[in-house]
Amino acid sequence: MTFESLGLSAPILKAVSEKGYTSPSPIQEKAIPVVLDRQDVLASAQTGTGKTAGFTLPILELLSRTKPQAKRAIRALILTPTRELAAQIQENVKEYSTYLDIRSTVIFGGVNQNPQVRTLRQGVDILIATPGRLLDLQAQGHVNLNKVEVLVLDEADRMLDMGFLRDIQKVIKVLPGYRQNLLFSATFSKEIKELAGGILKDPVAVEATPENTTVEVIQQRVILVDQQDKTKLITQLIADGNWRQVLIFTRTKHRANRLSEKLEKSGITSAAIHGNKSQGARTNALKGFKDGKIRVLVATDIAARGLDIPLLPHVVNFELPNIPEDYVHRIGRTGRAGASGEALSLVDIDEYEFLDGIQFLINESLPSEKIEGFEPNNRPGDNPPPTGGGGRKPRGGGGRPKAQGGKEDRRHSKPKRSGGGGPSNRNKSGGRPGGNSGGNKSGASSGGQRKKTSGKRW
Ligand code: AMP
Repeated sequence: MTFESLGLSAPILKAVSEKGYTSPSPIQEKAIPVVLDRQDVLASAQTGTGKTAGFTLPILELLSRTKPQAKRAIRALILTPTRELAAQIQENVKEYSTYLDIRSTVIFGGVNQNPQVRTLRQGVDILIATPGRLLDLQAQGHVNLNKVEVLVLDEADRMLDMGFLRDIQKVIKVLPGYRQNLLFSATFSKEIKELAGGILKDPVAVEATPENTTVEVIQQRVILVDQQDKTKLITQLIADGNWRQVLIFTRTKHRANRLSEKLEKSGITSAAIHGNKSQGARTNALKGFKDGKIRVLVATDIAARGLDIPLLPHVVNFELPNIPEDYVHRIGRTGRAGASGEALSLVDIDEYEFLDGIQFLINESLPSEKIEGFEPNNRPGDNPPPTGGGGRKPRGGGGRPKAQGGKEDRRHSKPKRSGGGGPSNRNKSGGRPGGNSGGNKSGASSGGQRKKTSGKRW
């Protein structure tokens, strides 16, 4: 399959070839013809599948088929959960439209609105936005959405996680009723299905399946260790193993800061990214990490979501997420082309329930180990670690909220998205378009190994 055969015109093909893409990814192969056919799309795809070009290229193709009016109007609106993702999409749109007479811009909160308003006044065809800033500027009369032909909801699951449902609904109210809708999501909870049901008309389901691709293996490792020993242990593992590029996840912003500071003190260059960091700080941290100047990036789930972080040899769960799907997102960051990656989880006895929920979701048993000198000081009568997997229901509620403060922290203390049933419920309702239901999306095998697509995740 080639980009030419998908029906894209010469200026787009030229830009795509300059990006170095030789063939479309599976999600692009499936989504591009459907979007060009002006049908609604329900797509199951996460960052790394090439989904951005999957919706951007056909939108550019469609918009470029009509000459722009003297006064440009927003004809495509792309909603995304985070500023980073919005900025990345805009960068892609700009590159792909290099040889087209199409203007685009991005708006998001946390920065002065005036430059954004000035660009909007000059007229744009494509607007990429986070919901809050969009509604804000719309209420002030700086954004007119009544000519929108295509709406894209990117990372819809994360937008709902971040509490944007009402904002999305408000945006939809001010859009023309007759339009094309594309919804992209990595997971399909009951809420996402409801949202999709209310917005999409006879959608075509497309899915980024990793079939027929080279597979590599994510080695999943669980180390049982007391919470207070985790920092010392991870510092030792990074130093002894000479790990050069490590992404570490924590549940809270506070913990991300503290861990990053402690690593720095031990001589391991590190930066934390989370919702309280300024845009500039986040961008710098990510750049330093990609350039190899920063060895460890400590991130919360929300901050890491949507970032074009390269696939890494080491991803560490300093704390397990209490939303089991976040575990799948996190370990999806692991791997290098042609080589295996390691996803390491440091698990304290208080996190056994989370481990249980995760094993249930991925339908795998994750064998645990102890490291000499860091054995947990469990008291007699303490539960052994769960051995999970195999379709068995998790013990307890599948995860206990233990969070304080801040938006990212609060997210974790919310009731479970699929109605309090925990992972078992989610697993049942988590069907993905195209029929592949359940959380075990990438053909996980037993014994802590998980197959995935190599390189770009397709
Ligand atoms: P996305 O899933 O849209 O975030 O894309 C992930 C990465 O894959 C980005 O760095 C894209 O530039 C890159 N990419 C997208 N489509 C292709 C393609 N067809 N061939 C090679 N790389 C691609």
